[in-house]
Amino acid sequence: MELKLYDTLTREKRVFRPLDPANVRMYVCGPTVYDFAHIGNARPVIVFDVLFRLLRHLYGEGHVTYVRNITDVDDKINARAAQEYPDLPLNEAIRKVTEATDRQFHEDVAALGCLPPTVEPRATENIAEMKALIERLVASGNAYVKADNVLFSVASMPDYGKLSKRPLEEMIAGARVEVASYKRAPMDFVLWKPSKPGEPSWPSPCGIATPGRPGWHTECSAMADRFLWAEAKSRLSQNGLSHPHQFDIHGGGADLVFPHHENEIAQTRCAFHTPLMANFWVHNGFLQVEGRKMAKSEGNFVTIRELLKDWPGEVLRFNMLRTHYRQPIDWTVKGLEEGAKVIDGWSGFIGNCDPVGQPDQIFIEALCDDLNTPQAIARLHQMAHPPVAGLIMAGVTMLGDRIGQEAQRHLKSSAMLMGLLAKTASEHHAARIKAASVDTVAVELLISTRNEARKQRNFSAADRIRDELAKMGVVLHDTKDGTTWEIAR
Ligand code: AMP
Ligand code: ZN
Repeated sequence: MELKLYDTLTREKRVFRPLDPANVRMYVCGPTVYDFAHIGNARPVIVFDVLFRLLRHLYGEGHVTYVRNITDVDDKINARAAQEYPDLPLNEAIRKVTEATDRQFHEDVAALGCLPPTVEPRATENIAEMKALIERLVASGNAYVKADNVLFSVASMPDYGKLSKRPLEEMIAGARVEVASYKRAPMDFVLWKPSKPGEPSWPSPCGIATPGRPGWHTECSAMADRFLWAEAKSRLSQNGLSHPHQFDIHGGGADLVFPHHENEIAQTRCAFHTPLMANFWVHNGFLQVEGRKMAKSEGNFVTIRELLKDWPGEVLRFNMLRTHYRQPIDWTVKGLEEGAKVIDGWSGFIGNCDPVGQPDQIFIEALCDDLNTPQAIARLHQMAHPPVAGLIMAGVTMLGDRIGQEAQRHLKSSAMLMGLLAKTASEHHAARIKAASVDTVAVELLISTRNEARKQRNFSAADRIRDELAKMGVVLHDTKDGTTWEIAR
């Protein structure tokens, strides 16, 4: 099946063809670890987890390399560490902040059903690669040293700005905010900067005496290069594949297009003389609250941790995925309530069935159409309901065995591919019974199907439906006036 993805660079939806189908390579910008992640930060993590899962499905589990970095050197981290642990030496305080935040982040995204990426490199463990990249850029005339900083010279790259396609004046105006005397031109950006005593620092490149630290953009270019190119190169040549210095997919939130990704492209292309850094640039839209982007600086955020106290991870994930990744999402409690009902309904339908079997073809086709998760979810709905409705029409004798179980398995393997239904169905039932909320439409449908079966004297089918309902926490009472039901106590 053909996967199509929207590429921000070419502004079109194109057929995805990996450079090496035996090793599909994707890089996604990861968190800066200084504080609890909010649910907006979870959007790229979930969206690219779905893409990772889909690529593994299409190319094989062992044939996808997904790199998501951890930015553990950043001015925001330094500021937070000094504020939280004023009595500790800065480096020790920084370690405490980054270790705790890193752990929280991993617990949170695991609860949201996200698989761990193949590699999660930390910036502080790749300083040598960053310095080597900086040295190359200075050697090629794309960067210069000034006042112990190393800066990228934007003028040295004639087609700078192709990703964001922003007018030059706008980029200059944006850059002016942080214009420093040591820049040759306002848009030049920092690759390396000097550290004050006590701040994190490493011996500087390019003969600079003062120890310093890398700029944020430099981190991603160097780590993408190390884990997605340097390590893939020998495999590519062994297999006779050409290996331009590039990889398949680079992802992140839309706010990273400028300046972060634009600058990553500038660094990588100029250092390695390659026309492209990644074949596809994929960006998720914003999660918003009342029309405004959720952000720490706006003060309108809610952390993943807080939400997980009230909602299962799958419900948060479902709510995220029922909007297409490029559209804005308005995050509402109503959306979460609806999501909880749907997930409950599905797990009731699936019961504890064995997940063997392939995901549904139409479901996969929806995902292959630029990750159309709303359409994929619509297909899951169809799969959860028509079997019951369809069986009524087709006659109850068809129920249970083949069609019923196949539909269950199909739904289960499809929903699992998307990372929904991470918990076992029995856990769902326990939670559902506790909450005493069941999908009443499904219950009524199952009861009428069962009554039909009894009328046709198909008692084994009728018993199976009773068992299914029992798994959903529903107890039936047959009286001479008909069947009533209640939630098991
Ligand atoms: P930050 O911590 O701001 O560097 O963000 C980490 C990741 O979360 C980046 O990929 C951002 O693009 C993304 N992100 C931050 N806020 C939002 C939001 N409200 N909606 C969607 N993505 C976001
Ligand atoms: Zn990045």
